Amino acid sequence: MKKGKRMVKRTKKYFYPAAIFIAATLCTAVPAAGGAGLSENVHHSAGQKAAAALLAEPAAPNGGRGSRVQPAEDSASRSRVAIIIDDFGNGMKGTEEMFALPVKFTVAVMPFLPTSVKDATRAHEQGLDVLVHLPMEPRQGKPEWLGPGAVLTRMSDAEVRKSVEAALDNVPFAIGINNHMGSRVTGDERVMGIILAVCKERGLFFVDSHTNYRSVAGKMAQEMGLPPVENHIFLDDVHTSGHVAKQMRLVQERALDQKYCVTIGHVGIQGKETAAGIRSGIAELKDSVEFVGISELVKDQWKWNSSLTLP
Ligand SMILES: [Zn+2]
Repeated sequence: MKKGKRMVKRTKKYFYPAAIFIAATLCTAVPAAGGAGLSENVHHSAGQKAAAALLAEPAAPNGGRGSRVQPAEDSASRSRVAIIIDDFGNGMKGTEEMFALPVKFTVAVMPFLPTSVKDATRAHEQGLDVLVHLPMEPRQGKPEWLGPGAVLTRMSDAEVRKSVEAALDNVPFAIGINNHMGSRVTGDERVMGIILAVCKERGLFFVDSHTNYRSVAGKMAQEMGLPPVENHIFLDDVHTSGHVAKQMRLVQERALDQKYCVTIGHVGIQGKETAAGIRSGIAELKDSVEFVGISELVKDQWKWNSSLTLP
């Protein structure tokens, strides 16, 4: 805790530009980068998809789960959707609306910001999964825009490790990490290797937000015995509730096609619109898919169980 507070002080000078950036551009910058990557992604992910298909096993029959399901349907056979909402931790717009969504989703919290601890704690108390939304250097844009505690490719091995550990120590209840921006870092084997090693030591997993279609994160995770979890669809690359609802239909298609889908939206300037679009998408999709936390997907899809290893 003390350590976290010191970090906040030390990084205060970055906070205001960061806040302005987050408020002004991040929430367009991140999905835009992802949106561009996603069309390329379709081709790029073919190999990973095949690998994922190899790893995927049919979900075990589970009578106890999914009481929402139609009586005729077996919940274990239903396709699953894990919605991750990024950029919590800075009291952004849409926070209340997201927390009021009627299904399980995953709360990705940026470290060292004014509501980081509060948002993570609230999510945990609501039974939601928490990820550390770790700021990572993008290929474009100034590193200072990332906010406090960012991982940069110019850092030494020891500095990368220290940043990742400090961020994890700052966000309570985190079961994994996903990247905020990060198109440069997720393409860097040295830095990703350290981030994934820390995940492995702490029994966590890494979700590649896929802001870089040349990301090495999934392949390296698999080599290290971690689940290769990645985002498939950004919900709010265009900031209207209508677009988000439309993206939710793509999520449904993808989930029905490959049995599961990971999708990302954001709190932020347009957070209320995103939440409204997700809410109407949920109403439309709830009879055909099951909404789960990312931990359930990771356990069932990749048969991954959290276990600690020593550094
Ligand atoms: Zn983000």
